[in-house]
Amino acid sequence: MSTRCGIGYDLHRLAEGRKLIIGGLEIPFDKGPMGHSDGDVLAHALCDALLGAAGAGDIGTHFPDSDPKWKGAASLRFLEHARKLLDERHLSIEHVDAVVILERPKLGPHFPKMRELLAGALGIPAEKISLKAKTNEGVDAVGRGEALAAHAVATLSSR
Ligand code: MG
Repeated sequence: MSTRCGIGYDLHRLAEGRKLIIGGLEIPFDKGPMGHSDGDVLAHALCDALLGAAGAGDIGTHFPDSDPKWKGAASLRFLEHARKLLDERHLSIEHVDAVVILERPKLGPHFPKMRELLAGALGIPAEKISLKAKTNEGVDAVGRGEALAAHAVATLSSR
């Protein structure tokens, strides 16, 4: 058995009148990410980490924002697609770990539901998904509440 790791990162600007969706979960807030899809930074970073570990390119290759098919798309669909791709390559997800960076709102209370949604999309137990949140201490665009970002790492094993 061999092990492979992948890294993913994403950032979206925040704007009024957009739904705040993180990890597939809609969270009540007065702003949400701008984007062609639902702008789910956590799902996008995770997707890139999984594709990276598989050596299968990146989210932009698989879901180009020039394709109307993905306009307003629920990003959990990207993860479902990544899961199929891993399956075809005989790769299993051992673990994913992620950190979401935003000033507000607090994400901790939402993590159990997010892990459940992500686990469903990826076909793995929620125990294999680790989520963390940080603020940016008021520094830069994320700190001013103008954007949110996420980093993710995925560990795969080949079978
Ligand atoms: Mg994105």
